[in-house]
Amino acid sequence: MRYDWRDRILVVGTGPAGMAAADELRRLGFTGQLTVLGDEAPYDRPACSKGVLSGHQKLSDVRLPAPEAPMDLRLGRRAVDLDPVRRVVVTGDGDGYGYDGLVIASGAAPVVPAGWPVGEPGLHTLHTLDDAWAVRQELYRAERVAIVGGGLTGCEAANAVRGLAREAVIIDSKPCLLYRALGETVGTLVARAHEDAGIATRLGRRVAEVERRRNRWRLTLDDGECLSADLVLVTAGERPDTSWLASSGLDVRDGVRCDEHLRARGTDGVVAAGVVARWPNLRFGPDSVRCGQWIAAMEQGRAAAAALLAGDRPTPPVTLLPRFWSQQGDLRIQACGELSPRADVALTRLRPGRADAARSGVLAMFYRHGRPAEYVTGEYAYTR
Ligand SMILES: Cc1cc2nc3c(=O)[nH]c(=O)nc-3n(C[C@H](O)[C@H](O)[C@H](O)COP(=O)(O)OP(=O)(O)OC[C@H]3O[C@@H](n4cnc5c(N)ncnc54)[C@H](O)[C@@H]3O)c2cc1C
Repeated sequence: MRYDWRDRILVVGTGPAGMAAADELRRLGFTGQLTVLGDEAPYDRPACSKGVLSGHQKLSDVRLPAPEAPMDLRLGRRAVDLDPVRRVVVTGDGDGYGYDGLVIASGAAPVVPAGWPVGEPGLHTLHTLDDAWAVRQELYRAERVAIVGGGLTGCEAANAVRGLAREAVIIDSKPCLLYRALGETVGTLVARAHEDAGIATRLGRRVAEVERRRNRWRLTLDDGECLSADLVLVTAGERPDTSWLASSGLDVRDGVRCDEHLRARGTDGVVAAGVVARWPNLRFGPDSVRCGQWIAAMEQGRAAAAALLAGDRPTPPVTLLPRFWSQQGDLRIQACGELSPRADVALTRLRPGRADAARSGVLAMFYRHGRPAEYVTGEYAYTR
């Protein structure tokens, strides 16, 4: 199919993937009706665990400007159902949006352990700007903050907390920090750097119970230790936000399953982009993967728009190079490639005269089947 001015394209999601897709549709010459549905106004989500928490950025600093490309942006609308046969998306207020082409870019939602009363004062997830703002308000009165989950968001949050001279403790079931992102060799260096910066850790431990005790939270760990905190941040991972696709018939096990062009499998005229999409990134192999990074979401959004407009004409597969950076106190991490926690890793100290590995600046090469596949650098900027 070729899209023209009579056609309607609907984008669900106002994160980087959805907004990049909408922008690209116009850039590629789509002149029909373009509607974007989102339950939030666009903002810089990575700032939620960085500048917003530390107080360096205000809400107005992280809200993104209105798109320049003409589009009908419907905010405060949440899609609740998709009928891909009738080609209709239904929103929570009961409105139906017909489409000729659909971009699914609904991102991810935070994982919350079953039964935890998240949302009560002092117990928060850290995923949205609203979350970050609520945490920041409560941080002023908190002395001790427990962070459940030592991934990128948890580590960044712990450093922001420490930077405000509050006590921070990170609890994670893995033996080191950043295990899923960077594996055990690099994650152990990162854990040591956090401990040196005064951030306490409880690694290889799980929170068995969380309960409110006299205006504080008490966390009981699986080895019986009890920690108390004024504020608890739950940064225990995310899952693709596909609840609205439950009755669509699409394969949504761990994200919307797509072909190598980001076209949703089993239907026509539907593409997916961003962290909600699971596709074979042929740069690395045939396995379907998801990519939870800001730059990749924008790149996928643009690629999905092109694939949608191409219809069934041949297009190159969407191949991406995942990459992210993270500032954690004085530690700056730059990572590039599809990093497997199970890869063999070789470390090179960039300034070998320094005693501790992380402070010396470290280059970590990840090897796949004996060949270098990816790399990470982590180093302290000498700011202290
Ligand atoms: C605290 C935090 C810090 C991060 N820091 C970094 C970083 O430093 N670097 C990096 O590369 N990545 C970072 N990430 C990850 C990065 O933000 C995500 O990978 C990226 O935002 C994914 O973009 P997306 O467009 O796929 O989804 P999202 O950004 O999740 O956007 C999806 C949007 O769709 C909306 N939505 C969901 N369901 C519906 C529905 N049914 N109807 C309507 N709207 C819906 C959501 O509310 C959301 O606004 C961070 C993530 C978090 C949570």
